[in-house]
Amino acid sequence: MATRLRWRLGVWLVGLAGCGDAGEGLGDAAAAEVGADAGVDAGRDASGDAGVDAGRDASGDAGVDAGRDASADAGVDAGRDASADAGVDAAMPAAGVAPRGLVAGEELLRVGATPVALSGAAPRVFRIDASPRSHWYFLLRFAPERAQVVLAVDRFDGARAAPLGQTDAGRGLRTLSVFDPSGPRTFWVRVLPGAGLSSATLTLTETPFADGSRCVDDCARLLQMPLANDPRRDGYTTDSATVFRYWFGRRDLVMFVRHAGQSMAARGAAPFVPQDFSQWDGATPGADVGALRHASHQRGKDVDLSLYGTDGAAPWRSYCVVRQGSDGRECAPGTVRGFDAAANVPFFADFFATERVTMCFLDRELIGAMRPAARAAMLPSAVAAQFSDGVHLQHWPNHDNHIHVRVSEASSQGAALAYEPFEAP
Ligand SMILES: [Zn+2]
Repeated sequence: MATRLRWRLGVWLVGLAGCGDAGEGLGDAAAAEVGADAGVDAGRDASGDAGVDAGRDASGDAGVDAGRDASADAGVDAGRDASADAGVDAAMPAAGVAPRGLVAGEELLRVGATPVALSGAAPRVFRIDASPRSHWYFLLRFAPERAQVVLAVDRFDGARAAPLGQTDAGRGLRTLSVFDPSGPRTFWVRVLPGAGLSSATLTLTETPFADGSRCVDDCARLLQMPLANDPRRDGYTTDSATVFRYWFGRRDLVMFVRHAGQSMAARGAAPFVPQDFSQWDGATPGADVGALRHASHQRGKDVDLSLYGTDGAAPWRSYCVVRQGSDGRECAPGTVRGFDAAANVPFFADFFATERVTMCFLDRELIGAMRPAARAAMLPSAVAAQFSDGVHLQHWPNHDNHIHVRVSEASSQGAALAYEPFEAP
């Protein structure tokens, strides 16, 4: 345990060093690189979805533990179990709430806008004790917009502040969100000033939120996908290509992605990796730098998700030999390799069962592998039908490495059954 904790601290210190040295200029470089690459692909590719891969290398965002560490600290589980039945109003302090002053210099952060007083490169750390019934959104706006700054979130793991995620990419703002339904939980958000930063304002927004497979109210509200508290339980994670400012979905889509993650995690599956939803403002990702990464992905109705392979993992990777067609990458016939169709059936079925999916995009060769696997899975007929109706799974180039899921923007649950106009991914 001691070794592990030292290692974690080491990661954190490396992160701090990086924001002042190697990180310098990254925000601009990231923005420029996203724009340049996405532009090239958009030109060669009518689908507009090609920018997904182009942008992947450009981001400095990452979950701190992504891919390396399942956050198996005993304290996490102890905190969850101990607080599972504790209401917010319980008289006993919740196990997830840290003692005051645990983190030196912590300041309580209130809902609303807080000017962040800056003193050179000195970090500022703010604390919230989060209700398990709310989604908590941190938005840091800063000037000048090309200045360097890292926004990072830690979570109380029962003993200490454990790094959860951080973001340093893009211009003018940083965004991260947390949600912990297991009980009251202390989080800390850190502002790490870098080169050129002259002013910053941190805004905390609390939105009532609950997990579930059905959204009944306020379903179109744009919410940032919260950081996974434990990828092994939440079933999703980040990778080096995650861009948090592009991680904003409709409430219902965020619920469905979380539900699918929890379902797959309960089956023992590895976490999948959601990439772009929409920008923080609901626009298509890349609109902030004038280089769209997709044709759609507005208003939080779309998301791109990695797929499960036969090795049990679900990183972003191609599952076939691709050829360049006039419209983008496609799997050459008969070349599907390492794709675990049987594992992807319950994954897709979790979305289809919501009756809110209007269409998904996937390479036709992978769709071809999915259909017999779905038939073999003995799914409810309404769910099974969506694997083979040609609408809920339809071919589009550049989908050999992910599925694009779109949910209805119609207001009522039943209305999704009326198909909405086609829109390219
Ligand atoms: Zn997409």
